[in-house]
Amino acid sequence: MINASIENMIDFFCDKRNRSTWHKLRIANFPRFVKYPTSQVSGWGLTSCLQIGYIEYMADLIEKIVSLCKRRGFVFPSSEIYGGIGGFWDFGPLGVELKNNIKSWWWQTMVQIREEVVGLDSTIIHNPKVWQASGHTLSFTDPLRECKSCHQRFRADQLKGEKCPECGGKLTEVKQFNLMFETFIGSAKETANKAYLRPETCQGIFVNFANVVDTIQPKLPFGIAQIGKGFRNEITLGNFIFRDREFEMMELEYFVKPGEDEKWFDYWLKERLNWYLDLGISKKNLRFFEHPKKALAHYSKRTVDIEYQFPFGWAELEGIANRTDFDLKNHAKSSGKDLRFQDEKGEKLYPYVIEPSVGVERIALALLTEGYREEKDKKETRVVLALNPKIAPVKVAVFPLLPNKPALVKKAREIYDDLKNCFNVAWDDRGNIGKRYYSQDEIGTPFCITVDFETLEDKKVTVRDRDSMKQERIAIDKLKEFFQTKLA
Ligand code: ATP
Repeated sequence: MINASIENMIDFFCDKRNRSTWHKLRIANFPRFVKYPTSQVSGWGLTSCLQIGYIEYMADLIEKIVSLCKRRGFVFPSSEIYGGIGGFWDFGPLGVELKNNIKSWWWQTMVQIREEVVGLDSTIIHNPKVWQASGHTLSFTDPLRECKSCHQRFRADQLKGEKCPECGGKLTEVKQFNLMFETFIGSAKETANKAYLRPETCQGIFVNFANVVDTIQPKLPFGIAQIGKGFRNEITLGNFIFRDREFEMMELEYFVKPGEDEKWFDYWLKERLNWYLDLGISKKNLRFFEHPKKALAHYSKRTVDIEYQFPFGWAELEGIANRTDFDLKNHAKSSGKDLRFQDEKGEKLYPYVIEPSVGVERIALALLTEGYREEKDKKETRVVLALNPKIAPVKVAVFPLLPNKPALVKKAREIYDDLKNCFNVAWDDRGNIGKRYYSQDEIGTPFCITVDFETLEDKKVTVRDRDSMKQERIAIDKLKEFFQTKLA
């Protein structure tokens, strides 16, 4: 599916908008064109060349990201030794750092620096009545069609045509499929004991609304935020970690005065877009998608997605919804508890809720896509993950120039031991320095330190910058200060 505009594709491949050079660019950027006969290629228009080049480049890009993630320990298929399990992924040594950095940046910016926002950590399994009141047992469904021949299942709203896309077989009628995973509490597998793994974290916030209000006595507007696992029995998977059956959500429920909800909705749209720009995602790869009124979820007055241009096309990165007073009112009705908020004048009301909600894995995939670069060097290709230093799994790598010179190793170890108290630092003494730099570039480490013979004399080290590859000499006793400024 081609869903990038021509302008976008030209921007993507050309630094300068000089369309007359497109033929050269086409050859330079898309080596795969070499496989097409020249006569055929010259007959193609700009549009088709760019489109084919774009599609091929993007297909290649996702393959490269998947392979890098496996090779370097970001993401592994879950239960891989048993053949894996669809929609579940494990995060390796670097992946867990990446995810933790995303989560702590979100927590810092969405909770800790905001006086009016507090955090919560509720359970994954709630009393099943929660999901009846929230409407999930009835409405948390996707339309499903099954192939009568190969029995593959598809989301009806993503199908094109009336035939099975895999084998061309006939499809069943559309039926609604509930995405919640069921489980049973206690020893008896009876309907009375049925519970669900939460498909979103926000219901834990709504059912704790009165508890939190009683403890912090806030004024409107105020927010309650939560990061935690969510589970959805998705019908169609694919696109690596984009759509998972188990994933981590970061959700803020922002309670506002009814009537002020539209103003706060616009506020959060801007805030969240700026959050991604601050992380280093380029503006041209982000856009808003306004959900049409008739397609809104049962609780929503307005929903806007922040979409990212993933290698497989534009897709939802984060959803921002005006959930109105739907959830609090329904929980009040079902539980019989008064969940109204008492304002400064003593008036009781149900606040409206603005909800920015995002999956950690989707942000990780967007950052990997955005940061992945290949730069041609004299002999080799340098692969760089240009991650924002705040998010990079490893901040600094320390190398002794030669691993068999004890004086260099000792000094480098001292520096490593000192810095690791402040940052996530890696040690590497394998192969030559050039290879070690490349190895750190590929995982996005912003800085490398080399301890050489001069260090033993002048007490300075070489600090090399991932992006510019520039090297500078920095005094050992100034290193912490240097990195604190650069990594802030
Ligand atoms: P989609 O249309 O992609 O299925 P959705 O509209 O159902 O997503 P929301 O219910 O708005 O998603 O969920 C909020 C956020 O949680 C999404 O923007 C996304 O970042 C994340 N998310 C939702 N479902 C998944 C999933 N299956 N895997 C990974 N992240 C997800």
